[in-house]
Amino acid sequence: MERFDHVIDGQVRPSADGRTFESVNPHTREPWAEVALGGRAEVEAAVEAASRAFHQGSWPRMTTGERRQILYRLADLMLEHRQELARRDTMDMGKPISRLLNGEVAGAASNFRLAADEADLDHAEVYPKDADHHIYTQYDPAGVVAAVAPWNFALTMGSWKVAAPLAWGNTVVLKPAEQSPGSATLMAELALEAGMPPGVFNVVHGFGPGSAGGFLVEHPEVARITFTGSSEVGAAISKVAADRLVPVTLECGGKGANLVFADADLDVAVPSSVRSIYSNSGQVCLVTSRVYVQRPIFDEFVARFVEQAEALRLGDPMDPATDLGPIVSQEQYDKVCGYLDSIPEDGGKILTGGRAGDGWYVRPTVAIGLPPAARACREEIFGPVVCVAPFDTEDEGVNLANDSDYGLTATLYTQDLRRAHQVAERLRAGTVWVNTWGVRERKAPFGGYKLSGVGREGGHFHRDFFTEPKAIVMRY
Ligand code: ADP
Repeated sequence: MERFDHVIDGQVRPSADGRTFESVNPHTREPWAEVALGGRAEVEAAVEAASRAFHQGSWPRMTTGERRQILYRLADLMLEHRQELARRDTMDMGKPISRLLNGEVAGAASNFRLAADEADLDHAEVYPKDADHHIYTQYDPAGVVAAVAPWNFALTMGSWKVAAPLAWGNTVVLKPAEQSPGSATLMAELALEAGMPPGVFNVVHGFGPGSAGGFLVEHPEVARITFTGSSEVGAAISKVAADRLVPVTLECGGKGANLVFADADLDVAVPSSVRSIYSNSGQVCLVTSRVYVQRPIFDEFVARFVEQAEALRLGDPMDPATDLGPIVSQEQYDKVCGYLDSIPEDGGKILTGGRAGDGWYVRPTVAIGLPPAARACREEIFGPVVCVAPFDTEDEGVNLANDSDYGLTATLYTQDLRRAHQVAERLRAGTVWVNTWGVRERKAPFGGYKLSGVGREGGHFHRDFFTEPKAIVMRY
């Protein structure tokens, strides 16, 4: 068994009471690592260290350029350790290692570079008033930031949650998801090696309520909470934060719609739509799990989609040839299977897919014939399951897409420029992709409408959240 500890005040340490929990490898379904289980004492120590580093330490007082050097060094070290970072995420949560090595680790490293550049290149406003006054803005770091991360992109989201607050001079306590603790510990160790002062970037492991996550978001010293995870937990954290008027950003669930118009280029739309539901075995908040296809091309689209879905390879995520790894946990596997069972109950038909029959594996699944009110069409499944339905007019397509409790992403495929612009404008989602899916511009706003979240992250949206903008009014 491998072992992951907390990183608190510059030290890699176990819990005071020695308690641990296990991380289970979803491919073997065997525990592979023992992880320090953080409680109130560890959260207290981490927040205290972060608070000291903020109020007395050098980090918030450095220039953005000085912080940039350290964050760049961290990014370099992450690339040097890319194999180990990738291995830990794959062992923890079953993502194919090829995805991590061919993009995600590099993306996580560049989160630090981008955030550092964003802060370093920023400028503040001056407000001309009259001959006697000089008025300008100062963006003060907010303080101790609590970052609560999910397991589906442990390294990508872990780095995204901490990079911007660090670049803006805050100190951070990261609570990684209990399913994926490994990469966060290494990232925080590398930050120390890169020269980040002790207490600036802390990691405490554990669970949610009544454990490290719950204690962290309740802590009175926390000035900002940034969370990515389910809408239910987002709402619970929001309530806790409201009592102390602590600002939150919540990036929550999704039920992305995908509109494929009759004039779409199917050589683009089909493979892109396949990727946009089966990536990471559908365990992505951005997936398009509802596909609406204009009637004249419905049959052809479905036939080509099924063929490409069936060509995907399920298997050991450590094998570079694997497209789909297992579902992360027994609990999540059971949940996905519950939705598979609901499809015939709600009047639908599974054209391909279902349980793979061995372990926590689910084959790429395509369901048709479901009414819009069916559970599989309305609720976030977080598995490789897509519902496909026909539509006739542009208005009907837009209404179907917008008829959701969520509003994180939407996608449309068309070759008509007028339609591309007008439909994109009408879709109620935080990101709309046209003739593509999954392309992220990290300077652009990232977040969702409705149950998909609160606030936006990315680019200057980060600055507005992780700083206290102060107006300084000076009389000459
Ligand atoms: P998922 O549904 O993707 O497993 P969750 O929303 O359950 O995601 O969890 C996301 C993160 O939030 C995890 O790190 C988890 O431990 C943490 N968490 C869960 N409940 C709470 C809570 N009440 N307070 C703080 N953190 C929580």
